[in-house]
Amino acid sequence: MSKRDYYEVLGVGKGASKDEIRKAYRKLSKKYHPDINKEPDADEKFKELSEAYETLSDDQKRAHYDQFGHTDPNQGFGGGADFGGGFGGFEDIFNSFFGGGAARRRDPNAPRQGADLQYTMTVSFEEAAFGKETDIEIPRDETCDTCQGSGAKPGTSPDTCGHCHGTGQLNVEQNTPFGRIVNRRVCTYCNGTGKEIKHKCSTCGGEGKVRKRRKIHVKIPAGIDDGQQLRMAGQGEAGINGGPPGDLYVVFHVRPHEFFERDGDDVYCEMPLTFVQASLGDEIEVPTLHGKVKLKVPSGTQSGTKFRLRGKGIPNVRGYGTGDQHVIVRIITPTKLTDKQKQLLREFAEISGKAPLGEHEESFFSKVKRAFKGD
Ligand SMILES: [Zn+2]
Ligand SMILES: [Zn+2]
Repeated sequence: MSKRDYYEVLGVGKGASKDEIRKAYRKLSKKYHPDINKEPDADEKFKELSEAYETLSDDQKRAHYDQFGHTDPNQGFGGGADFGGGFGGFEDIFNSFFGGGAARRRDPNAPRQGADLQYTMTVSFEEAAFGKETDIEIPRDETCDTCQGSGAKPGTSPDTCGHCHGTGQLNVEQNTPFGRIVNRRVCTYCNGTGKEIKHKCSTCGGEGKVRKRRKIHVKIPAGIDDGQQLRMAGQGEAGINGGPPGDLYVVFHVRPHEFFERDGDDVYCEMPLTFVQASLGDEIEVPTLHGKVKLKVPSGTQSGTKFRLRGKGIPNVRGYGTGDQHVIVRIITPTKLTDKQKQLLREFAEISGKAPLGEHEESFFSKVKRAFKGD
């Protein structure tokens, strides 16, 4: 059974933010929840939805899905192979799984695309928010300039391998109790290339490609989030037999910030308030990614109250506006009081008496009282 694309299932674009994905999931999961929706396929749809959300809401799983698509965790790769960690190619895994032979059962002379490369880049919170241009250096195979990839000395050309006649494979016959079995093996004389190079290119030693450390200019898009990746077409390993090069995937890791926290395009922070500021109201200065902003705190503000600073978040990576900053105020109880301050607070308590201070306190204190009565 072929699986639907996870992005299609959730009805979002490939570049959707975590927030968009979560919103889409919430909306659809309500629609298809088997307790609510009595259509016969609701259960199936709900399962599909949960699976899509589980993958796309997890940065690592999503990056993997973006690169390799559906892989059935129950077959083949043993419950989610780890593709992370530096350079590696799909080809390696493919070869190790199928024992090498099957992967090469194709025309050895056909042009093939080079392998994709992955590079993990760690960026600061601000760099992720506003973007940056930088150079990275990656080791990769490039087509040899001297022989244009043929592997033969300039002026000569490779011959067809006399052992496999250019197929890259040899038939090995074996007599067994069940009869004669013909095994096809990779030709050991030409390593499956189907070619024999009598005069090897001195630059690449007949490989047709050379390992180079290549400097690549990367434009980090403003608004990139942790785990998202940038595909740089044609910047991977050199192609084979004149095939196109692979792609380079730059996967971003965003360092956490000591003051700001990020959720999608929105930024969260906590600001301390004295109980005097909270009681009487005040205007405070709040740091944002876009500079300091003044925030009016009304009198009677409770600890945990959230204020929104519109447009002070992170620009959307696809250019859909800018997120907001949410400021959560925390009321700090003073720990070092002078005698004079203590005196004033006692006086304050005295004139406040046991009388409720406001509606909020009234309901809160009566709840506390009820809790004691039930003891
Ligand atoms: Zn060469
Ligand atoms: Zn051969």
